[in-house]
Amino acid sequence: MKIAVDKIPEEGHPVEGKIEASEIALDMPGYGMSEPMAIAGRVTKVDRDVYLTATLRGALDSECSRCLTAFKMPLGLNLSVVYVPDKGRMEEKEGALESDFNVSFYEDDVIDILQDVKETIIINLPIKPVCRPDCKGLCPHCGADLNVADCGCEKAARGSPFEELKKLKSKLEEKQRKQS
Ligand SMILES: [Zn+2]
Ligand SMILES: [Zn+2]
Repeated sequence: MKIAVDKIPEEGHPVEGKIEASEIALDMPGYGMSEPMAIAGRVTKVDRDVYLTATLRGALDSECSRCLTAFKMPLGLNLSVVYVPDKGRMEEKEGALESDFNVSFYEDDVIDILQDVKETIIINLPIKPVCRPDCKGLCPHCGADLNVADCGCEKAARGSPFEELKKLKSKLEEKQRKQS
């Protein structure tokens, strides 16, 4: 998706449309994109600097890090970028902005927002995607999907990560007590 800087009027200009998965070409292990992303927002121009604020909506194909089921992960992201016409001013602009805008640059009067769209998606990807916040995951003992049914393995054999943390914490506390 490209924006011609000369065509942006004084009062700004809406940005709306779809960005195809093939344009974004997301190349992240564990994630795929099979549907276009919808973008809706606005560009405004101050001298030669162009401010873009938009929301991105779509979904990624992913796999749950707990139960290993393939699922569609909905995405709703904000994009805030200021485009400056030369690379040399990027640093100066970054220092001058107190808001959370990213600074990019453009050449030849044309803004290409694709790189920023892609970067915004990538930095917002969870390291451990989950199909739903309360996904119970797989039993580490027998491999059963605990969302489907309780496999009946001893809770102790499953070794909940919280139990491990608790043990670690009490060990540390004991150590501190001994030291003081
Ligand atoms: Zn899951
Ligand atoms: Zn089990």
